[in-house]
Amino acid sequence: MIEFQNVKKLYETKKQIVEALKGINLTVEKGDIFGVVGYSGAGKSTLIRLVNLLERPSEGQVLVGGKALTSLKPKELRAEKKKIGMIFQHFNLLNSKTVFDNVAMPLVLSGTPSKEVKQRVEELLEFVGLSNKSKNYPEQLSGGQKQRIGIARALATNPSVLLCDEATSALDPQTTSAVLQLLKKINNEYNITILLITHEMSVIKEICNKVAVMEGGRVVEQGSVLDVFSKP
Ligand code: ADP
Ligand code: ADP
Repeated sequence: MIEFQNVKKLYETKKQIVEALKGINLTVEKGDIFGVVGYSGAGKSTLIRLVNLLERPSEGQVLVGGKALTSLKPKELRAEKKKIGMIFQHFNLLNSKTVFDNVAMPLVLSGTPSKEVKQRVEELLEFVGLSNKSKNYPEQLSGGQKQRIGIARALATNPSVLLCDEATSALDPQTTSAVLQLLKKINNEYNITILLITHEMSVIKEICNKVAVMEGGRVVEQGSVLDVFSKP
């Protein structure tokens, strides 16, 4: 489903060249909840940003659904991008827009007829349990509620992959658990493949079936969560 083939990523700044990824090989299979864990600076954000083309690899390939993202023409790329949803640590909601409009955004941007938008947004808000907040603004919501809206927005275009960038790091433990259970439900009911990055081992243990441990731009260990954590 998502494949990293010998991926390297360099950042060149005025002062230095940072080798953020030093040859990553990873395969995320359809239906996985795949967790990437590591300390700050390990390269996790870079890894996930390569999947939705916020960054491009310096070397190697990132394949999604068998297609190399960098080889696609603009039109194909737009279609591929719709299949990838993403949620963020700080939710990235637009504060000047209502909950409804935030969730509707990806649909409106892709030219969906307004009647269809309305129906889909209502469906999504019901799925995340926030139908009653449709007319509210993000600042009127709790952190957990904001992340549910982020999730609804990410699911709007019916993606096959959901990327989660430290999605529960700004939440308290109880809210974290509730959001993680929602992710599990999304994986289960819609067969959406999830790739998440986190610095918290507890997140991996709670919902992931596979894990990769990153350190200094490399994957130092990977496998099923049971195998990796049962090693002496
Ligand atoms: P993590 O998400 O695990 O904290 P990152 O992928 O953010 O790791 O960063 C990996 C390394 O790359 C770090 O040394 C970081 O400072 C560096 N880095 C990340 N983004 C940039 C950038 N845009 N320009 C320069 N260096 C960067
Ligand atoms: P996180 O690790 O929580 O993802 P960071 O603070 O590492 O966040 O990065 C925030 C933003 O700054 C990202 O867009 C990243 O690409 C960029 N960035 C990170 N490290 C550097 C760096 N050394 N130089 C320039 N930009 C950086």
